[in-house]
Amino acid sequence: MSLVEVTDLTVGFGPLSAVDGLSFRLEKGAALGLVGESGSGKSTVASALLGLHRGTGAVVGGAVRVAGTDVQRASDDELRRLRGGKAAMVFQDPLSSLDPYYAVGDQIAEVYRVHVKASRRAARARAVEVLDRVGIPDAARRARSRPHEFSGGMRQRALIAMALACEPDLLIADEPTTALDVTVQAQILDLLHTLREETGMGLLLVTHDVGVAAGSVDEILVMRHGRAVEHGPVASVLGAPGETYTQELLGAVP
Ligand code: ADP
Ligand code: MG
Repeated sequence: MSLVEVTDLTVGFGPLSAVDGLSFRLEKGAALGLVGESGSGKSTVASALLGLHRGTGAVVGGAVRVAGTDVQRASDDELRRLRGGKAAMVFQDPLSSLDPYYAVGDQIAEVYRVHVKASRRAARARAVEVLDRVGIPDAARRARSRPHEFSGGMRQRALIAMALACEPDLLIADEPTTALDVTVQAQILDLLHTLREETGMGLLLVTHDVGVAAGSVDEILVMRHGRAVEHGPVASVLGAPGETYTQELLGAVP
């Protein structure tokens, strides 16, 4: 069974068809880049993988299976176990996912405790361990810092640490480097690469920047108006892009 199986997914927001018959698979340990211009439906797909459209009024069709969970049919409890447990998500702006008033380490510990029945002490130790793993220097001390005491790149590392805490099978990263300057961007992409190798987790990397995807994934799916216009190994999509749209994304056409 694949880690992610999306079959004929549709997501409608009122009259707008944001995702329009999308199918793809992601195998265990593989990395797929979901690429397309702003508004093409990438984040809507990412949200659908975790059942985040439930109860929002969005109309979702088709089938989504993630780490063995049938997302469309899962109970609220099953979805809670999936999110942050088997499948974790990081976003463009780490501040939107972190509470400004609490120490970063406490927030990671809390996520861990929700998913793994662990003592407070064990959860705090786990938080320090994952902060260290993502390259936060002096992690035991920095775990006590609040989010605003971190730089942008360190905050993104902290958010990735939070995602890692429960050893997910799948990491969904939605524009994880878009808010960062180029040097820090490269460091975060490097980190994602290393973590993939170490943990064997699958990666869905959502980005409007084909260059970001190219160096970090095995396959690229190019989206336009909620549909897949190209899908294949990085070398074939970038080497001989069949679509004018993909060429434009690559900057190949002025
Ligand atoms: P991307 O991540 O590729 O930039 P999105 O998935 O965020 O694109 O958005 C796809 C389309 O769906 C856009 O036209 C966007 O305005 C619309 N959209 C996204 N979320 C909502 C929502 N909650 N309600 C209504 N429209 C939405
Ligand atoms: Mg988006």
